[in-house]
Amino acid sequence: MDCLFCKIVAGEIPAKLVHQEETLLAFADIHPQAPTHVLVLPRRHLGSLAEAGKQDRELLGRLLEAVAEIASRLGLSGGYRTVINTGADGGQTVEHLHLHLLGGRPMHWPPG
Ligand code: 5GP
Ligand code: ZN
Repeated sequence: MDCLFCKIVAGEIPAKLVHQEETLLAFADIHPQAPTHVLVLPRRHLGSLAEAGKQDRELLGRLLEAVAEIASRLGLSGGYRTVINTGADGGQTVEHLHLHLLGGRPMHWPPG
């Protein structure tokens, strides 16, 4: 399978790691949209949120918990934005589930 984020997980493509644990990895986005822009993802390939099932409940919970832990560690005490783009209309460009953690500036609503 030709998946960019699986290659980063495998260490075949370098990334600026922010956090790693048994099931998850977090690294800096290559095109940051805010002073802090981190991607948090499962090591195991899962195409998108739309492909997650009952068997992924613990993983999905841990992904959100890890976002909050990383935000705290990075000092985002004023708040942050968490985004999951899903599918073409959702603006997903890399088909390996990932959560965007954006912070360090005020966010706007609604998003584009
Ligand atoms: P999506 O659009 O799928 O929600 O988010 C994909 C994100 O991956 C984008 O924000 C994009 O900047 C980031 N990205 C794409 N290629 C690379 C890469 O090779 N390395 C890193 N660190 N981020 C990438
Ligand atoms: Zn993958």
